[in-house]
Amino acid sequence: MDLLEYQAKGLFREVGIPVLPSQRIDQAQDLKGLRIPYPVVLKSQVRAGGRGKAGGVRFVENTIDAVAAAQAIFNLPIMGEYPQVLLAEAKYNASQELYLAVTLDPQSRRPILLGSMQGGESMSEAGIDQVKQVIVDQDFSSFHARHLVVNMGLSGESLLKVSTLVEKMYRLFVDKDLDLIEINPLGISPTGEVMALDGKVVVNSGALSRHPDLIQVIDTCREVEAKLWETPDIWLESTAGLLSSDRTLACTVNFVELDGNIGILSNGSGLTLATVDAIIQAKGKPALFLNFGEEDYFQMTDILRQQLRRSLEIVSQARGVRVVLVNFLGHLGNIREIGLEIASYLQHCIALGQTPRYVLRLAPHSAEGLKVDFAELPVEITDSLESAIAAAIASAK
Ligand code: GDP
Ligand code: MN
Repeated sequence: MDLLEYQAKGLFREVGIPVLPSQRIDQAQDLKGLRIPYPVVLKSQVRAGGRGKAGGVRFVENTIDAVAAAQAIFNLPIMGEYPQVLLAEAKYNASQELYLAVTLDPQSRRPILLGSMQGGESMSEAGIDQVKQVIVDQDFSSFHARHLVVNMGLSGESLLKVSTLVEKMYRLFVDKDLDLIEINPLGISPTGEVMALDGKVVVNSGALSRHPDLIQVIDTCREVEAKLWETPDIWLESTAGLLSSDRTLACTVNFVELDGNIGILSNGSGLTLATVDAIIQAKGKPALFLNFGEEDYFQMTDILRQQLRRSLEIVSQARGVRVVLVNFLGHLGNIREIGLEIASYLQHCIALGQTPRYVLRLAPHSAEGLKVDFAELPVEITDSLESAIAAAIASAK
């Protein structure tokens, strides 16, 4: 899962990667209590890139302009996502903008260091070809970092500063089992100081249990999101997820409406889209698909329970839906709890006189193992996605 910029920078600060003083802004009025001297930059905290070009990064000189700019940013969706939080940060005068990253090389399955002198917003066009790579094929040493930075074309003082920073990035990558750490841009000031102006961190959800500190960073973010799930039911009717003008809805409930009759609830964007594709290939018609998010659910917290309830309601009650297909991938500890939650929701529906139709695939739990939880409930439980899809299509007819 992707951390937001301010969370990534929180990690950077911990390990001594230089970041500017900054302050989290939850609403435009917070800027009246800003503790950072002007000029500052206000940045939309969404997971999409290209915020600068989309208008989600604005420089301001005083409180009046800052409040107005913050209001504009809060109301600006970027790739369909509205920010719940902005980051206010001291302005930095960079004379050069570099690109740096550490990730796993898919071919060699080894960590790879990436760097380019063409960072910042020029990265997307010109930068790709210029990216230098160093695969860390044996034990990491400062040599790998220096090798990258020399290849990039740096020398002198900035060579040392940047390679020390690459080392810190690498240590963070390894210590926290990250999938990606990226700094774009790394600003270099006219005096040769370096500063991480933007940060992206992708956490490996499979490794989260070993890193309670990371879970804490993510949970802080969830608490903010959880508030949004407490909004009254009217927003259910305000419909059209990603297109909604209600930013609370668009940001937390990630769903797309179509014209068919099968509702899809899945976890993770990859799995959700794969499920939609498979249904279409089998000549079924999705009515709506909702991505419950790719986080790992270690404990069934109240927040998650609430979010799952909401998601089930949205999918069940969406226009055209005759059957709901739930395709979840988890691990044995959490998926049973998710199953129990779904069972309790269905019991609730039946008590209200409704007749929901559900097809469930909750991998890696076996259909056999789940049957007791769903005894007497109108659901089909399957082990494979194929049979789940066949059941859903049959039931939608
Ligand atoms: P992105 O467009 O989503 O990658 O967002 P960034 O955080 O990278 O911001 C976009 C651009 O704004 C960067 O490429 C920088 O050129 C510029 N920028 C961001 N933060 C600062 C800052 O603190 N000082 C200065 N001078 N420029 C910044
Ligand atoms: Mn950037």
